[in-house]
Amino acid sequence: MKTAEKGLLLVLSAPSGGGKGTVLKELFAQDENLRLSVSATTRAPRPGEVHGEQYYFISREEFEKMIESGGMLEHAQYVGNYYGTPKAPVEKWLDEGRDVVLEIEVQGGQQIKKLCPDCVSVFLLPPSMEVLEKRLRGRGTEEDAVVQKRLGAAREEIPHAQEYDYIVYNDRLEDAVADVQAILRAEKRKYSRNRDCIERVLENAETQ
Ligand code: 5GP
Repeated sequence: MKTAEKGLLLVLSAPSGGGKGTVLKELFAQDENLRLSVSATTRAPRPGEVHGEQYYFISREEFEKMIESGGMLEHAQYVGNYYGTPKAPVEKWLDEGRDVVLEIEVQGGQQIKKLCPDCVSVFLLPPSMEVLEKRLRGRGTEEDAVVQKRLGAAREEIPHAQEYDYIVYNDRLEDAVADVQAILRAEKRKYSRNRDCIERVLENAETQ
């Protein structure tokens, strides 16, 4: 049976080091209808990051131009840099029926909730602040001052988890992935997303 035609917009937030990347990698490996929005940022690429893959790495000037021209769906400043979601690909994918993931921090999440109230928001919660710090340090790509800033940002972000539709506890990867998949599945079966289906079933019954 046909379900909702427009794709679903999933906002996924977690503090930096919260393991979003690993969960997303697994989700994408298992769901070919899912698309990841590639954000733009003014922060410098980390070793191994490629322009157009993890982010579009652009200057502050270019970023501000994109905001002014209405090219960003949302944007925020995080630890001294701009981050934002380019609007065009997200709209195109949703129209094509693809589900789109925005992997963004909480200020961006708040903007998306206002703009698209039918989006689904998930906050990925690390098991503890100690685990979060270990993951951030283990990454080995940031200086101590940056790790401290990111931990500070995490302490401010975690209380915002209460603004999200769902909390997923990111302790075991398989459980976290299964939880997000279950959320997507259940959200697609919501009545509000399936009104047309009911009408279609009734129309078919009348023409038979
Ligand atoms: P990182 O520098 O570790 O890649 O990302 C820092 C934070 O920015 C993370 O919480 C990440 O989710 C968030 N972020 C990445 N892209 C965007 C975006 O397009 N918009 C917003 N608001 N946050 C983003």
